[in-house]
Amino acid sequence: MRRLRRVAILAFTMVLAFVLVACGGSASSTDGSAAGNQSASTASETKAKGLVGKPWITSVLAGNLPIEQPEAKDDLYMHYAYDYLADHQLTGGNAMEEHFNELRDATIALIKDESKKGHDLEQLRILYNQAADTEKLNATGLSEVQPYLDRIDATTSLDELNAVLVANDFPFSPFISAQVKPSDTRSTNAVSLNPNFLLCNADIVGGTYYQDTDDQMAQKAAEAQFALANAFTSADFESMGMDSESIQSALAKVTEFEKQHGKHLQSNSTYVKKDFGALAQDMRSDTFTLEELCSLCPNFPMRETLANLKKDQSERYTASRQWLEAFNGVWTEENFDAIKLMTKAKVLSETRPYRGTPVSKETSERIAKINESLGPAAYRACDNINTLAQVLAKTYVDECLPAGTKERLAQLSQEVVNTYKDLVNNTKWISEESKQRVEEKLDHMTLNVLEPVDGYFDYSGLNLVPTDQGGTAFSNYLVCKQYRYDCEAKLVGQPASKGCIWYGIAPTTGNAFYDVEDNSINVLPGYLTSLVYKDGMGIEELLSDVGFTIGHEISHGFDYQGAQVDAYGAPNPIFTEADVSKFLDKNAKLAEYYSSIELMPGVMADGKRLAAETCADLCGLQAVLEIAGKSENFDYVKFFNSMSNIWAQVIPEPLFAAHAADTHPLNYLRINVNAQMFDPIYSKLGVAEGNGMYLAPDKRIVVWGPNA
Ligand SMILES: [Zn+2]
Repeated sequence: MRRLRRVAILAFTMVLAFVLVACGGSASSTDGSAAGNQSASTASETKAKGLVGKPWITSVLAGNLPIEQPEAKDDLYMHYAYDYLADHQLTGGNAMEEHFNELRDATIALIKDESKKGHDLEQLRILYNQAADTEKLNATGLSEVQPYLDRIDATTSLDELNAVLVANDFPFSPFISAQVKPSDTRSTNAVSLNPNFLLCNADIVGGTYYQDTDDQMAQKAAEAQFALANAFTSADFESMGMDSESIQSALAKVTEFEKQHGKHLQSNSTYVKKDFGALAQDMRSDTFTLEELCSLCPNFPMRETLANLKKDQSERYTASRQWLEAFNGVWTEENFDAIKLMTKAKVLSETRPYRGTPVSKETSERIAKINESLGPAAYRACDNINTLAQVLAKTYVDECLPAGTKERLAQLSQEVVNTYKDLVNNTKWISEESKQRVEEKLDHMTLNVLEPVDGYFDYSGLNLVPTDQGGTAFSNYLVCKQYRYDCEAKLVGQPASKGCIWYGIAPTTGNAFYDVEDNSINVLPGYLTSLVYKDGMGIEELLSDVGFTIGHEISHGFDYQGAQVDAYGAPNPIFTEADVSKFLDKNAKLAEYYSSIELMPGVMADGKRLAAETCADLCGLQAVLEIAGKSENFDYVKFFNSMSNIWAQVIPEPLFAAHAADTHPLNYLRINVNAQMFDPIYSKLGVAEGNGMYLAPDKRIVVWGPNA
């Protein structure tokens, strides 16, 4: 699962918070009723005795803030973010996430402003207005999708259903998604295959939610996600006329079917736990020709499905071998009923924003409540990789961000790359051979900052049909989707396009990530809010905000996973064997340090699970501090103040365990642990022995540079 091998600056926590809120749980709830949630209940018991957390108070936990603001020398993060933390004790909060709607709000304003002209904006306007016309959607109900459901219903065997699925006039691929993506940037584009799950996003969590686990926090996250998905699917089944008993049995059937093969898909965090080299090994075994792919999964009409997706002409395909074999195992006549149900559920799920959902008033109100937390439905109809997510992202950068933003960030990214080169060159523990390979990796790293290097798809040929000419949200959805397939088809077999990863994700998302398999960093437009970037901001804020993120992502190129893959995305380690063990020692030291931090009485941070992200944070901060050191009169107070406020967060107790179980450290640790490893807090902020931020020189961990 190549697309899963991404490491982002934010990940799971954001998704989980959203899931719990959407399911009717409240992110701002302070009731500590998380059943079986050991950390949370421990917190309730111990808070009566005093504030929890060592060596720093766990200041991101709601209700755990001291009345007095601490000195920066004792707790850098809490000192600078104190006002935010104090203001959000009751409601919970996350400064960064609070700004992620800026792209949405700005582009909706442009769509609604009829005086703004332009082809792409017109396309957005057509689809947005059609999807916003709820009266018409409700009147139309399922009528536009019904002919497809009828065709599925009419099948009486798996062979017949297979024939429907691969028919030229059946515009859905309910089980497989396929994305064009280079697997070696010196070669041609390949096609990356993923399962198209109903219950969760394979791209984000892989099969994690389907796997048996004793981890109560993971179970809770999975249950919340399934509850959310089922709320929608159950409304979809109801809209087809099913009664509540049949709906429950149908949900159980599709869940079981998806679990049977989904649990074989690995998630991104898997490789942190496995031995060094496991990622490279899987990458080698997960590349196929079309013949090999089809022979691994002979029960499923793979070749015809890929032909329908216009991706059957690729020289190479990548997919998880383990998952493919499991998927083949469940694609049997025995599972025909479940497959048929799943096919209908997927078609309904895909078309949801573009049709009505004829259900009871009660169901309709329940769904409306969930939708409220997801934002305007008409916007979501446009913010879809099959429709106009790329257009929204491009419009935001071109029309809404300060002029020159892209150029300034491109320059900053290059400066960070150069800084890493210097740091690696001045590192004593690494051999010349490894140094050269890291340098090669940095030289060939693709910097997709605010746009993919190859540009977005050209939407000038897309002509959606306005309502007065008979166009509907549904018909235009299918037009957009076909347009996307045509754009992708042009890339199959072509020389590697290094910005490809953006065509399979919504660049409107508030995130940044490193992609291991094409050696690219990706700063998505959705990430660039007024919190992290302002016109005319000084070097201090530029480095503490976007600079730190860019530094973090670049360093993933040579972290535990990144070091298993070469400059071109091929599975060849970039360190010599001797250097691998030295590098792993550094990682182990860092993990050990994190594991010594007590989040709650008796609950320690899990340094090993955090290894990739803590290493990226450490190196990211080092890189920007290197640049800071070269700037005259650099204001370190401004720098740490800004950084702490960007990562300001208050986690309500019921969500705390899930945050603590993420592969990213808690936000207060992302600032404090890394700051104490480097000179500025000692030489510029005056931290000395006896202060809470002090760490003895021989205890400080650095991976790169002359002090490493
Ligand atoms: Zn990361």
